[in-house]
Amino acid sequence: MSTETTGENPFLSPSPLPYQLPPFADIREEHYLPAFTLGMIEQLDEVAAIAADPSPATFENTVEALERSGALLRRVSLVFFNQSSSDTTEAIQELEAVISPKLAAHNDTVHLDPALFARLDDLYTRREQLGLDAEALRVLERYHSRFVRAGARLTGAEQDRLRELNAELAAAGTAFEQNLFADTRAAALVLDSADELAGLSADAVAAAAENGRALGHDGKYVISLKNFSNQSELAALADPKVRRRLLDASLARGTDSNGPLAARMAVLRAERAALLGFPSHAAYEVADQTARTTDAVESMLGGLVAPAVANALREAAALAEEAGVDGIEAADWLYYSEQVRRARFDVDASAMRPYLELEAVLRDGVFHAAGLVYGLAFTERPDLLGYHPDARVFEVTDSDGSPLGLYVGDFHARASKRGGAWMNELVTQSRLLDQRPVVVNNLNIAKPPAGEPVLMTWDEVTTLFHEFGHALHGLLSDVRHPLVAGTEVPRDFVEYPSQVNEMWSDWPEVRSNFARHHLTGEPMPADLVTRMKEAENFGEGFRTVEYLAAALLDWSWHTLPAGADPGDPLAFEAAALERHGLKLDAIPPRYRTGYFAHIFAGGYAAGYYGYIWSEVLDADTVEWFKENGRTIRESGEVFRRQLLARGGSVDPMDAFAGFRGRAPEIAPLLARRGLTG
Ligand SMILES: [Zn+2]
Repeated sequence: MSTETTGENPFLSPSPLPYQLPPFADIREEHYLPAFTLGMIEQLDEVAAIAADPSPATFENTVEALERSGALLRRVSLVFFNQSSSDTTEAIQELEAVISPKLAAHNDTVHLDPALFARLDDLYTRREQLGLDAEALRVLERYHSRFVRAGARLTGAEQDRLRELNAELAAAGTAFEQNLFADTRAAALVLDSADELAGLSADAVAAAAENGRALGHDGKYVISLKNFSNQSELAALADPKVRRRLLDASLARGTDSNGPLAARMAVLRAERAALLGFPSHAAYEVADQTARTTDAVESMLGGLVAPAVANALREAAALAEEAGVDGIEAADWLYYSEQVRRARFDVDASAMRPYLELEAVLRDGVFHAAGLVYGLAFTERPDLLGYHPDARVFEVTDSDGSPLGLYVGDFHARASKRGGAWMNELVTQSRLLDQRPVVVNNLNIAKPPAGEPVLMTWDEVTTLFHEFGHALHGLLSDVRHPLVAGTEVPRDFVEYPSQVNEMWSDWPEVRSNFARHHLTGEPMPADLVTRMKEAENFGEGFRTVEYLAAALLDWSWHTLPAGADPGDPLAFEAAALERHGLKLDAIPPRYRTGYFAHIFAGGYAAGYYGYIWSEVLDADTVEWFKENGRTIRESGEVFRRQLLARGGSVDPMDAFAGFRGRAPEIAPLLARRGLTG
């Protein structure tokens, strides 16, 4: 790789902008490769110097030196991977395919450096005598564990094999993501006439026409696929043939391109786990999570299956009655759910949208809630440029007016963005590095024609509150070490703060502030809200089953023992669902293997269970906010100081028990999901 750089490469020095916001106006695609190349060389030099230090290991000359190393690599990585998911190009995709295996190899070089590990191991052995504070002690333990889990204790031959496995897995993960991106675009449903879209709202039809123009199908209507099985349009499309085509396209995505790749990745991960002394990749992963053991995960998920399926079957009977048929097919489930909601609960999901306008939801909802609960204030900074015209930058200030960080909101779908919704960091909070946080939220809300208001669904509103919860975890981080900042917590814990933040979308004081008619300013009628909530409970069976099916599919791929051959990926998937009692033809898993990006292209391998695992803590915390005798602001302050601010600097379950006064209880979750029998 070339290390040629011009003097103008903006990654080479810390950003001069406020909060070290990356200087997007100056960043061009040709800056990435030289910055990555130089960034890796720089970090290897820094690491070599740490390892070769003739003085005995100290926390400062080893752990803190590691924390400071790789500054350039960190700057370019955060910006690059944000762009590759949020505003990609062919050149970026090619570069990602080149860079991912090199980064994997780079990390191996650091983690498998024997002299460096010897210093960490020495410190770890003496950790109780070093006089470290609690955070520093935890950082040392985390580093030591990270190196051991990365293979620092293996023999040379084993390490060589590990490097090969990591390189192939990194390349495969990138290929999976890129196949999915291409397949999702190619599988978009192209319809010739507006008649076929009967049932969709007028603005959804207009958006489909606009989408057709953008994707080169002038005069046609295009429904792009979202990143999960049951497309939301299925609830409204009146023509059963169109519904079937849409669901078929969704379920078939990635089968040919990604199915074999997924199976290969599962085999490689199993082999890697065995090298590291674990019976499966799942066992390897959960050892470092709050769950600890595969038994704990299996007993929790397993206990939910039967009541969730029973709920779903009750829902299916109601749907069949509504449809006047014997059984409901998958493509018709959401459609008849919507019919039942209207008939039984007198609600129409689209009736809410005029009351859910994006600007109001953001400022009078999401930001307003962060003010009520945590005392934060938000000011848009149009003078600070994001990485795309749609990426808006807001300055966040604390209750005393002091500066806290930046929030970048990028809410709209576009052809260059991957599906789903997520949070990224552009700058990680750290007192050691003198950095304040800069975080990004990405959503995929369809962009209306110019000049039209952005009206959201209730689901999209909840998603925005959810992603903003991740953003708060990053923004409110108050630690010294970047290793444990903000969202650097176990994966089966990281969804907890984001789920907690969803509660504010539904908090009467907050909702009445943002849910107002975009033309008249009238508040959303209270009975509309009540009926919507009753209707929502009606779908819990479906939602829990499609989630559990995906979680146990992930689990099946990753409990494969080393050396086992999974065989045909589709047959493997079917057998896995059957074995777990989740092979319901009418409810496909939320993700099938071919488009399960969480586990084959993201960080959630053997970790998708984490959503419901975290939801136990979330539901219990919502009870705490409701039950205790303090104001919201007082409770918010406790939750912030005890939990959000501490990131991964304390044991997460200790942080939970610290404010809750006890270990989590599952009853609130069971009640919420209607699983109490
Ligand atoms: Zn999340």
